[in-house]
Amino acid sequence: MDSVETWVNDIRQAAKGVIKQVPRQHIIDCDKDGSFPNKLYDTMSELGLWGVGLPEEHGGMGGGVSAMVALVETLSAAGMPPFNYLITGFARMAIYSHGTPEQVEQFVKPTADGKKRIAFAITEPNAGTNTMAIKTFAKKEGDSYIINGQKAFISGVNDCEWMLLITRTQLLKDVPNPAVGITPFIVDTNAAGIALNEMRIRVSPPDRQYEVFLDDVQVPAERMVGKEGEGMKGLFVGLNPERLMTSAISCGLADYAIDKAVEYIKERAPFGKPTGSYQGLQHPLARTKARLEAARLMLYDAAKRIDMGERTGAVPSMAKLLCSEVATEAFDIAIQCHGGYGFDEDYDLITLLPCARAQRVAPVNNEMMLNFIGEHVLGLPKSY
Ligand SMILES: Cc1cc2nc3c(=O)[nH]c(=O)nc-3n(C[C@H](O)[C@H](O)[C@H](O)COP(=O)(O)OP(=O)(O)OC[C@H]3O[C@@H](n4cnc5c(N)ncnc54)[C@H](O)[C@@H]3O)c2cc1C
Repeated sequence: MDSVETWVNDIRQAAKGVIKQVPRQHIIDCDKDGSFPNKLYDTMSELGLWGVGLPEEHGGMGGGVSAMVALVETLSAAGMPPFNYLITGFARMAIYSHGTPEQVEQFVKPTADGKKRIAFAITEPNAGTNTMAIKTFAKKEGDSYIINGQKAFISGVNDCEWMLLITRTQLLKDVPNPAVGITPFIVDTNAAGIALNEMRIRVSPPDRQYEVFLDDVQVPAERMVGKEGEGMKGLFVGLNPERLMTSAISCGLADYAIDKAVEYIKERAPFGKPTGSYQGLQHPLARTKARLEAARLMLYDAAKRIDMGERTGAVPSMAKLLCSEVATEAFDIAIQCHGGYGFDEDYDLITLLPCARAQRVAPVNNEMMLNFIGEHVLGLPKSY
């Protein structure tokens, strides 16, 4: 067994320690009363799991992307996708790979135990998938930058100390290449000039999404990550890990749905025989299970490649596509197996369907994955 596999097994075991202490009911309760799932994140902290994936020299326990994937997948299979860990986990990658030693000390190391967290703010209402078209602008004034603009869909920002805020420091029309002029800053989420508006989205409960309004927010120049205008370099480091962690949510949720369906149709017997004996239910479930295992193999293969230092966009894109599709498929058949009870929140399937479905849209939609595969794997012309 190689070291990546050892990590994956160890982290899966450690994640089961969280599941023993935190029932799915905690997430359901938080969703109902609008509170943050502190018990989940505090237990992860007690067991040292916020340091998973963070290199030891930055205060973490190491393990790379494979270990992060194993953690997210295992908790998701128990109906507890740890969104805040996932976002902090990849936001801090941009900081420790392209930030200063002082930034690592001040903003990365304190995340190793989950006591401090980082949101990631790139999406804008009018830019959407087209990151290069963002308009939030940071203007240099003396030793600071003054930031104005608006973000949307920013997950968990009100429960994070900082956000990695992606801005433009040069207008799109003034740069030779759209990737030039993008600059990230580490911004206090309670800085003067920031206003949050909770969006009416119930996809990843109890974590919520927010619109973020930035009105003359003053940020010291030492909060800039990397060189001015070269922010895309740092963001690329976290891009594939983010896709793989959301793929891990997909695989975990697919496990959750399939397990529930199997358990239910072993017992349910409206005609005297368990409905699990009907091929109309058994075969689609079996097919989804086979597709899930294939998608999972690709997910761990992609994670391992990244951990081994391979520069690959193709395998993570394919993994993201397949994992997110199989998650929706699993919920669809699991609901069919439950009949009318599939729509009863007490059966706790319909509750997680939006979360599974969202993985085909966020953090990047599947059409962009197909674009990537079409262009970079098949060598076809760019379509947009
Ligand atoms: C639950 C959730 C959490 C999120 N959390 C965060 C967060 O923490 N931080 C953050 O910055 N953002 C976050 N997002 C935003 C997310 O990354 C965006 O929703 C996503 O990037 C797509 O942008 P959009 O919604 O504006 O879609 P649009 O860009 O309007 O695209 C809509 C649809 O058009 C199609 N499409 C778009 N472009 C192309 C193309 N070039 N080729 C083919 N088809 C295309 C796709 O089908 C796509 O689904 C979150 C979103 C959700 C739903």
